[in-house]
Amino acid sequence: MNYLKKFFRGLLEEMFVNMTNRLCVQLRLFCIAGAGISIIMTVLNMIKAEYRLGLETGISAVFCIVIYLYTKKTGRYLAGSLCMAFILLGMFTLYVVGGLVEGFAALWFCLFPFICFFILQMKPAILFSGIGLSVLIALLWTPLQHTLPPVYTQNFLLRFPFLYVGNFVFSLALNGFYVYTYGRLLQLNQKFEYLSNQDGLTKLSNRIYLEQYKQNLLEKGSAELHALMLDVDFFKQYNDTYGHMAGDEVLKSVAGVILRLSAGSESIAVRYGGEEFLVLLQEAGKEEAAAFAEKLLHEIHNLKIPHVAGDGYVSVSIGISSRKVTSEEQFMNLLNEADKALYCAKQSGRNCVSGKLV
Ligand code: GH3
Ligand code: MG
Ligand code: MG
Repeated sequence: MNYLKKFFRGLLEEMFVNMTNRLCVQLRLFCIAGAGISIIMTVLNMIKAEYRLGLETGISAVFCIVIYLYTKKTGRYLAGSLCMAFILLGMFTLYVVGGLVEGFAALWFCLFPFICFFILQMKPAILFSGIGLSVLIALLWTPLQHTLPPVYTQNFLLRFPFLYVGNFVFSLALNGFYVYTYGRLLQLNQKFEYLSNQDGLTKLSNRIYLEQYKQNLLEKGSAELHALMLDVDFFKQYNDTYGHMAGDEVLKSVAGVILRLSAGSESIAVRYGGEEFLVLLQEAGKEEAAAFAEKLLHEIHNLKIPHVAGDGYVSVSIGISSRKVTSEEQFMNLLNEADKALYCAKQSGRNCVSGKLV
């Protein structure tokens, strides 16, 4: 019981976390439900000595299990879904043609559109449901109906395709609504994820994103990283002189330069603290990283934002460090080394780059 609970919870979690694989999860759920129902029906049919029906439901249980295992192993759920749709169409057609259980087995055919919309994308589901309708009309409304066993009344033959069409329309509407709300949910999820990883003032990444970046990096193994720690010079004095709001504008302008220069490269730019920023460069050479730091320094100074301290314009100091990172400890060491280098840059008179790259 506990195992079943865990299993279904796992499936549902997978469905919501990895939302793009919705159809894969639905196919797998359908296979499990189909196998379960088919096994129960096989047992019941055997008890009632309906051996032919028992054999057919037994075979469908095997198909469900095989398709489940196939999609789980290969991840090719589209092939699995198409296979399932073909098999079900064949099986339900046999139910109608065979007139099994005094014709009652034919009612399963009505479920076909609903199943198609559950395991396939909208267009293939419409196509398969249409094929199902054509088969049904060919069997019930053409001279082929005389080849059917005499278990169906004329009323049944006439009305059954309408029942099928009703179910098709209902499934189409339900699916449309489902796909729309699911898409909206996916969009909102992406938006919230983006917002939760971003600093509200500067639009750079925040510490939450840095943590995620670190986890991903360590999961992948190792990486050569260069760290650039930036700090705005005499910023307290800037706030005291020009006001906090003007200070915010400076932070935005500095972040704008960082964002512009780091765009497109294998890097992340983070607002690390109040007026401290961190840039991590991956897959960059030592010279490239050093040039990047110098460029940042000059472009920020070139904003020519007046300041009463320093040389008359807002500037930053930059500490740099680099190392191969394979563990959490090494990652923290990288940042600590950049921080120490930043302190040296401040000691050396500010508006300069300090530290060494390897
Ligand atoms: P140093 O050159 O040594 O870095 O001097 P400093 O004055 O920049 O250093 P300090 O750490 O003393 O000052 C940082 C200031 O940054 C203090 C705080 O008021 C300001 N600050 C932090 N976050 C923000 C913010 O979001 N907006 C504004 N306007 N100021 C901020
Ligand atoms: Mg500071
Ligand atoms: Mg400062």
